[in-house]
Amino acid sequence: MKVLKFGGTSVGSAMRIKEVAKLINDGEKKIVVLSAMSGTTNSLVEISDLLKRKQDKQAAEKIDTLKQKYTAVVEELLNTEALKAKAHTLVEATFDHLASFTGQECGLKEENDILAQGELISTNFMCYYLTEQGIKNAWLPALDYMRTDEKAEPDMPFITDNIIAHLAQHPEADIYITQGFICKNIAGEIDNLQRGGSDYTATILGAAVEAEEIQIWTDIDGMHNNDPRFVEGTKPIAHLSYDEAAELAYFGAKILHPTCVRPAKKAQVPVKLLNTMEPKAEGTTINGDVEKGRVAAIAAKDDITAIKIKSGRMLLAHGFLHKVFGIFDDYHTPIDMITTSEVGVSLTIDDHKNLDAIVSALDLWGDVTVDKNQVIICIAGDFTPENICFANKVTEALKHLPVRMISYGGSNYNISVLIDKEYKKEALNLLSKMFF
Ligand code: ADP
Ligand code: ASP
Ligand code: MG
Repeated sequence: MKVLKFGGTSVGSAMRIKEVAKLINDGEKKIVVLSAMSGTTNSLVEISDLLKRKQDKQAAEKIDTLKQKYTAVVEELLNTEALKAKAHTLVEATFDHLASFTGQECGLKEENDILAQGELISTNFMCYYLTEQGIKNAWLPALDYMRTDEKAEPDMPFITDNIIAHLAQHPEADIYITQGFICKNIAGEIDNLQRGGSDYTATILGAAVEAEEIQIWTDIDGMHNNDPRFVEGTKPIAHLSYDEAAELAYFGAKILHPTCVRPAKKAQVPVKLLNTMEPKAEGTTINGDVEKGRVAAIAAKDDITAIKIKSGRMLLAHGFLHKVFGIFDDYHTPIDMITTSEVGVSLTIDDHKNLDAIVSALDLWGDVTVDKNQVIICIAGDFTPENICFANKVTEALKHLPVRMISYGGSNYNISVLIDKEYKKEALNLLSKMFF
């Protein structure tokens, strides 16, 4: 069985939902993961932000605007009165639910409930449309089978048992439609897999059902060799190894959720990135094969904070780094890049929630400097030491820019460079010129 995921733009209008229905109706049994229609999750974030700030009137207006949009989609998508009525009832119920949050305290739990509504609607709409087209389908409730554990990681044994049980309940279905992004957490509350999380849902399901392939359908013809939002003339890459794709996703290639490659790699399920607007395009295949002697692609991760700890004591003496890392661990803050010298250690984080507390704790161990608004540029490819010129080319390309940190040798498939965000676009373009 294959798992196919369609992103927000791919299901962004009644017409697009119909196009996706055509694409998935090829006689093969499959699981289809859908995002919310494009713009919806952003609107829901705005609504919950307004509610948190007690701006209930503005929230109610936004809820109403979104409801009108969905009401119009129902009219355009469906023909039969019975299914139209069903869809309108769903829209009424969903927007009554959203409206029920006005005039109330809005915390994280409420926010997560609000954010979940987009995927719940889009998947129901798809099922109604498939039913109208006479295509045998089943709607699988992600909130029943997708769960995270105490570390907020996917609870794979639970997910596997439950998705298999849900599939078995609908042996007649040709197409299983389910929600990306949403899940329950260890406390049994509605939660999500972070923004862009529908990709993660797809790879988690792909691993759980041991799929023959996971397909991520989006609005571009595969992973490009640089960020098309900042560099002109980027090109799709036909093949990436799991490790290259994982580095690029983690370090900012928005086409993939930061951690979605992991489940696919672990289960050795190949992933294809395909374009809904151009279904015949080759796209990108991600699998275990490694291509030697090339730089594959460049990506950038924004909103990074660099922290330098300079110590008068023997910095790298036994136990020092353990202490430093322990502080980040205490605050559940992952470290992305790290470089060391005899007198100092520099590292980067992208989660700033506990920055002040971390800096206070580090202050005991030396002089701490914090640089905000930094960007990690990740160059992914074959960086085995034999490719002598590759690391050199990176520094050569960036020779006129003030580079803050360089990390090389942590793995064989990436170099990371830290620069101020003001130089991001220039750095991406210079590296493209050098390598492609
Ligand atoms: P979806 O809604 O389908 O999940 P996303 O917007 O999350 O789509 O991801 C697709 C977008 O990722 C593209 O439109 C493109 O602008 C952006 N992107 C950033 N870096 C890359 C890259 N290296 N290759 C392809 N797309 C990229
Ligand atoms: N709808 C969610 C988002 O916009 C999840 C996704 O699209 O992958 O982040
Ligand atoms: Mg996405």
